[in-house]
Amino acid sequence: MNYNKKTVYDVDVKGKKVLLRCDFNVPQNKETGEITSDKRIVAAIPTIKYLLDNGAAVIACSHLGKPKGEWKTKLTLAPVAERLAQLLGQDVIFAKDIIGEDAQAKAAALQPGQILLLENLRFDIREEKNGADFAKALADMAEIFVSDAFGTVHRAHASTAGVAAYLPAYSGLLVDKELSIMGKALDDPKRPFVAVLGGAKVSDKINVINNLLEKADTIIIGGGMAYTFKKAQGYEIGTSLLEADRIDYANDMIAKAAAKGVKFLLPVDNYCAAEFSADAEPVLVEGNIPENLMGMDIGPKTVALFTEAVKGAGTIVWNGPMGVFEFDKFAGGTKAMAKALAESGAVTIVGGGDSAAAVEKLGFADKITHISTGGGASLEFLEGKELPGVACLQDK
Ligand code: AMP
Repeated sequence: MNYNKKTVYDVDVKGKKVLLRCDFNVPQNKETGEITSDKRIVAAIPTIKYLLDNGAAVIACSHLGKPKGEWKTKLTLAPVAERLAQLLGQDVIFAKDIIGEDAQAKAAALQPGQILLLENLRFDIREEKNGADFAKALADMAEIFVSDAFGTVHRAHASTAGVAAYLPAYSGLLVDKELSIMGKALDDPKRPFVAVLGGAKVSDKINVINNLLEKADTIIIGGGMAYTFKKAQGYEIGTSLLEADRIDYANDMIAKAAAKGVKFLLPVDNYCAAEFSADAEPVLVEGNIPENLMGMDIGPKTVALFTEAVKGAGTIVWNGPMGVFEFDKFAGGTKAMAKALAESGAVTIVGGGDSAAAVEKLGFADKITHISTGGGASLEFLEGKELPGVACLQDK
C-alpha cells in the first residue's frame, strides 16, 4: 500500500470550499452530554487553522457515537461546534442537518475564512453504508476533500472514502503524520525493528503477527495472548486466557519466526492470581502455571528479557498491554515496557486503544515518538491492509 499521499500543502485552497472529515467523536458525560475530553477537537485545530488562514471555506464533518442512522438528540455535534469555536476563537456555523436544506444553504453562503460544521454524519444510515447519493451530496457542497480523521480511515464510509469519487482528495496534517511515521516504520524501518504485541486475544492480532513476521527483526509477545503460545510450547498455563483453536497457529508462527531468523520472545515468568480481580494477591510463577492460577502480568525476568530486546532497537512498534494494566497490582509489566520504550532512543510508535491509554495513564506519552490516534485503524495499518480512507487520497 502506498502511504505517500498528497497533503493540504500540495493544493491551493485559496477561495475553495473544503470538505474536511474530522474525528470529533469525543467522550461525553452520558447524563449531561458535557464533553469530558476535548483532545480530539484540539488535535484537529492545526489543519483547520491552516485551511482557514489560507483562504479556504471549511465545511467540517464528523460522526459522534453510534446512532446507527437514527436522529438521536443526545449525539448532536452542537456541543462540539461550541467547543471548536472557543478553541479557534471564531464563530463556527452549525448546520441543523447533514446534506439537507440547512446544510446546503449554509455551505453555499460560506465565505473564505469561515467554518461550518455539519450535523452528526451517522444520523444518516447512508454514511456507514457508503451510499453513493449521500457521498455525492456531501461532495457537491465542496470543491476539495481533506481527510483528517485517522480513527476512521479503515472504514469505507461515505465521508471517509465515498466522497473521493467526486472530489480531489488530500490528507490533513493529522492523517499525514500517521501515514508518514507508521508508513515509514513498516516500509523502511530503522533497524533493528522490534514489535511488541500484547492484549487479550491472539485472534485479534493474527494478521498483525503475520505481517510483522515479514518485516520485524524481533517480535515480543506479552499480555493474555502470550498464554496460547506458551500452551503451544507445552507449558501448563492454569486458568490463563487460552484460545485452544489457535494453538496450531501459534506453533506455526513460532516455527515461521525460527525459519526466518526473527527473534520471537515470550514471557518466562508471570504474576498470577487466583481470580480475575483488582484485589487479587499477585503470585510470581516461573515456568508452568499451577491449575488454580491465571497469568495476569509479566514477571521481573520477562521484563528484563523484553527490556534487553528493545535496547538498541532502531524502531519499536507497540500494540497491546503486557497484562491487566487496569488493575494497579498487575500494571507493572505494561509500565515497565512503556518505560523501556521511552528510554530506548528508538523511533517509538504506540498503536491506539489500550496501549495508548496505558502509556498516557502511566505518564510516558511525551517520551514516545508517535501515539496513534486510531485504535482499529492503526491495527489494520500494522496488518498491512489497504485502508479505504487512505487508498482514496491522491498519490504524491
Ligand atoms: P486488546 O484490546 O486486545 O489490546 O486487549 C487489551 C486488554 O487485554 C486489556 O483490557 C487488558 O486488561 C487485557 N489483558 C492483558 N493481559 C491480560 C491477561 N494476562 N489476562 C487477561 N486479560 C489481559
